[in-house]
Amino acid sequence: MKVAFLSSEVFPFAKTGGLADVAGALPLGLEKLGLEVKIFMPLYKGIKPESLSEDFGLSKVGKNIEVVFIKNDNYYLRDQLYNTAQGDYPDNLQRFSFFCRKSLEVLKKIGFSCDIIHCNDWQSSLLPLYLEEFYKKDKFFKKARTVLTIHNLAFQGLFSLDQFDLLGLSKGYMPDLEIYSKLNFLKSGIIKADRVNTVSPSYAQEIQAKEAGCGLDHILRQHSHKVSGILNAIDYNVWNPDSDKAIYLQYDKKNLDKKAQNKVSFQKELGLKKDKNTLLLGMVSRLTEQKGVDILSGAMPSILKNHQVVILGTGDPKYHDILSSLAKKHPQSFSLHIKFDETLAHRIYACSDVFLLPSRFEPCGLSQMISFKYSTLPLVHATGGLKDTVVDYTRDKSKGNGFVFLQYSQEALLDAVERASSLFSDKDSLTALQKRVAGLNFSWETAAKDYVQLYKSA
Ligand code: ADP
Repeated sequence: MKVAFLSSEVFPFAKTGGLADVAGALPLGLEKLGLEVKIFMPLYKGIKPESLSEDFGLSKVGKNIEVVFIKNDNYYLRDQLYNTAQGDYPDNLQRFSFFCRKSLEVLKKIGFSCDIIHCNDWQSSLLPLYLEEFYKKDKFFKKARTVLTIHNLAFQGLFSLDQFDLLGLSKGYMPDLEIYSKLNFLKSGIIKADRVNTVSPSYAQEIQAKEAGCGLDHILRQHSHKVSGILNAIDYNVWNPDSDKAIYLQYDKKNLDKKAQNKVSFQKELGLKKDKNTLLLGMVSRLTEQKGVDILSGAMPSILKNHQVVILGTGDPKYHDILSSLAKKHPQSFSLHIKFDETLAHRIYACSDVFLLPSRFEPCGLSQMISFKYSTLPLVHATGGLKDTVVDYTRDKSKGNGFVFLQYSQEALLDAVERASSLFSDKDSLTALQKRVAGLNFSWETAAKDYVQLYKSA
């Protein structure tokens, strides 16, 4: 089976979040199952392809996966992927509609007659429409079927209606794109793709109801026969404390004392009080409403009375300010880093005792799976993919692998922190649990097989 995999970010070439992790790892998993995959992404600033022609660059990943970088310096040669501090780039409609159209053109040019075109999120969700508009009668694309994966329904690619003409589509397509007086790239993808999936079974259900439907729940319900959920996974070549070059001391579940040593080195680096018996809670996240920063900020003064917190992330300036003033007040117990930093992220996963994911909603979440591998216990709100992966230890000691709070509130979050804290003082149970979670397997092997089934059904 031949697959063209489109993503606006792919690790290690460009990353702002989980989409890049998935796009960097799933194609490798598919290749291992014998599929022929090519990845398509924009040629952003700083990427150096192994070869370069007028309209695209090429590199190789995995055994033999070609990465095709769509070139348009006017659109992609910028410091950030989607926005500046002032907001989204005003020409994102042109930038990502071009990405979709050009990818189809290049597919034909290089003669990659694929069975599946796998689109990801709004940035590539216009492709099924373009395929229909421009290539419906083209033999080259006759067998091509489209799959759209929604990594986060909250991001839909919204633009003003008067920009429709810039898309080069016939007027008849307007209803596929229009909703609430806006053009909506994701809506057209949901309507036109042969299969739509999201990144966890729970989120696939949640988005078909009003509360988590982000205004598209009725569209998803209309197409529910083709909507499903496949849980994401992580790449254990990237996330593994046994081979992680970013941490102080490599370790695995058999030598967890080295995890404790990592923690003390980290406390020293961060300027926190050096004490392996103080609970250290970590977080690596976009700092937005979605990620639960509102309830976390409210809970922080209580948490910081007895515990330490380290947070790495960027996002909403409102939360930068709130967290910065907390960090100023609690320099010994709260270390805040408002930036994107891979090395620091690895250290937080490795050196924390507990990893915080108080997300209001979470399509899948990768950090809880990464945390498991580092014997760091996730503390999560029961939503979406977090609900599908984390079982509360206090409720079920045999299957429990972290701490879960059901109600989205500051109090419920604090209660979970207290439960984590009491386990932390019971060292034998803690070590047993840390060993067990490190052995959990969320590798792409299983998820890639599910994607093959999805491709076949398309
Ligand atoms: P998202 O909704 O942001 O995609 P995910 O949990 O799916 O959330 O994935 C987030 C990924 O991005 C994880 O690999 C996480 O470690 C990484 N990440 C998020 N913020 C930062 C940051 N500031 N620095 C480094 N890595 C980050």
